[in-house]
Amino acid sequence: MNVDVRKKVETLRKQLNHHNYRYYVLDDPEVADREYDTLLRELQKLERDHPELVTHDSPTQRIGARPLEAFGSVDHRLPMLSLENAMSDEELIAFDERVKKGLDGEKSIEYVAELKMDGLAVELVYENGTFVRGSTRGDGFTGEGITQNLRTVRAIPLKLRDQKWPSSFEVRGEVFMDKQGFVLLNEQRLKEGESLFANPRNAAAGSLRQLDSSVTAGRPLKFFAYELAGATQPSQWETLESLKSWGLPVNSHTKLCGSMDAAVNFFHRWENERESLPYEIDGVVVKVNDLAQREALGVRSRSPRWAIAGKFKAQQVTTVVEDIIASVGRTGAVTPVAKLEAVSVGGVTVTNATLHNQDEINRKDVRIGDTVLVQRAGDVIPEVVKVISEKRPKETKPYNLPDSCPQCNGEVIRPEGEVVARCQNAACPAQVKGRIDHFVSKRAMDMDGLGTKLIDQMVEEGLLRDFSDIFTLKKEDVAGLERMAEKSAENLMDAIKASKTVSLWRFVYGLGIRNVGEHLAQVLANRFGDLDALMSAAPEELEEIDEVGPIVAASIHSFFSGESNRAIVERCLASGVTLENPQTLSGSTPLEGKTFVFTGSLKKFSRSEAKEMVEHLGGRAGSSVSQKTDYLVAGPGAGSKRTKAEELGVPILTETEFFDLINR
Ligand code: NAD
Repeated sequence: MNVDVRKKVETLRKQLNHHNYRYYVLDDPEVADREYDTLLRELQKLERDHPELVTHDSPTQRIGARPLEAFGSVDHRLPMLSLENAMSDEELIAFDERVKKGLDGEKSIEYVAELKMDGLAVELVYENGTFVRGSTRGDGFTGEGITQNLRTVRAIPLKLRDQKWPSSFEVRGEVFMDKQGFVLLNEQRLKEGESLFANPRNAAAGSLRQLDSSVTAGRPLKFFAYELAGATQPSQWETLESLKSWGLPVNSHTKLCGSMDAAVNFFHRWENERESLPYEIDGVVVKVNDLAQREALGVRSRSPRWAIAGKFKAQQVTTVVEDIIASVGRTGAVTPVAKLEAVSVGGVTVTNATLHNQDEINRKDVRIGDTVLVQRAGDVIPEVVKVISEKRPKETKPYNLPDSCPQCNGEVIRPEGEVVARCQNAACPAQVKGRIDHFVSKRAMDMDGLGTKLIDQMVEEGLLRDFSDIFTLKKEDVAGLERMAEKSAENLMDAIKASKTVSLWRFVYGLGIRNVGEHLAQVLANRFGDLDALMSAAPEELEEIDEVGPIVAASIHSFFSGESNRAIVERCLASGVTLENPQTLSGSTPLEGKTFVFTGSLKKFSRSEAKEMVEHLGGRAGSSVSQKTDYLVAGPGAGSKRTKAEELGVPILTETEFFDLINR
């Protein structure tokens, strides 16, 4: 026996055990999943070549990590296994061949292809239709008892529907956080100076494994069920149907495939379309459909022989920080940005990553020259997750944000107790440009043709001092600019004219009032009904709104009390900007008693935002179409719900028709 091999095996085990602990117990991984997978595969290969080195406690034989004692442990009646991974089409096809061989040369195998939710696996025990116990996967045999925390997840039914469920059974599924919930949670944490979650998976795991379940209750956790423990149904497809009929949420993007080819197509489809989903997935799970075949195939120590996880390209990679710059935004916030050696993350080239603020830089100790782990999570800007400290070059220095603005030399101040440092000069060109950029953006005034470069140029030429100047621009002014042809100038003038009639909430959002995002702008527009009423609202009046606390009320009030802000708004109106006011909500709730169901993919808003708006206007958001549904809102990709609505004669709205309806 080669001593080097033995040594290598030991080193790999040590490294993997360390990473397992960081990942499963602390929810704070140090390396990208790909890196971990590479180490695991290396160990698997060495153990295959040298079977005498396999030990029962090797990371290749074990799942997850030992549960945290603080929670109390729960034994799983049947082990909760991990999944074997496939990194390519060939590996999926090789799996298909192994399955066929395992089933005595069976020619055609049916598979169920499911999205691989990037969350935390849990087991739910139901007795006589009631949720009685829930646990994490833990080491596969024993998990942490987190029943109380799971009860706070609204997607988990505490009582089942129908009556046809077995008297006692276990459901397995994934608790996850959608992208929007994750972004909002991290924004909140950033504001409060708390450390950020690296990705929605860690956020979900961290939220679920809280000792105080009221903390869990405040986190936007979701759930999808995907397995029944034990073979109680003849096939996986029927299992999913049963789970649904009992009232458990099952992901609708699931496909019954006649062959591995169809499953491979499903894999490619979702690798391309993953960004369109409101939650993160890291691959596709392909499972043998027939349960008798599954039993014949059996399981290994760590994973079943009847399922495989096709993994997507990494969303996390390592690269080098070439520089750190301070970027100034529309609110004057000075944000450190890492300039990276170009690298492809999940198919997109990344050269910049946000470092958020000085506290985050200090916490992660990011320095110029460092090798860092970078990720794209959800639709947010790429960010630096951590420094690979072993790769730090000599003589690097900690980075500190400058104390004068890199754009206007104005003073940069970080007020006591706040995390963000800001340039104090409201006339700073970076702030002016940022405010105009925000005002014309898609979600606000939606002015086509007025891009960042053009805005920069117009501000530098003195054509725009604030966004009200846009409406008094003349074609001659614009046509005189660099690289601006007569025709483009004309198009731009048309686009500006077209954007002059706009709904109140978009205009309010476009103003860029601190703490007023799209959702709040809508709430304010609906509540006050017109701009005058909003502009003259006292802080106490603003605070009567559920979503508005003292800080937000003060920021809205102080915005509209500012002379210069009022003047800008008035100049916009005087130049012909016409605001479409919504019906006011004073006492009446226009959607009272109406039930909406959403299906297919929505473009302008996430599904949860759309649901929130319906609820805010007094309506209800349902999950399935029935006689009681008033409207189905169907985006592209709508399937069975649409058919059902057509059968029942339920009116079907496009997303635009829906927004027109609620804006009326
Ligand atoms: P896995 O994530 O590869 O697959 C199994 C898990 O998939 C299940 O436990 C379940 O949670 C999930 N899943 C999602 N949708 C599913 C569906 N429809 N059907 C069945 N299961 C579904 O395996 P694992 O053992 O949970 O974890 C291994 C993963 O964790 C690897 O990707 C590895 O890279 C990562 N990891 C990373 C580190 C690190 O330090 N970065 C450390 C340990 C593990």
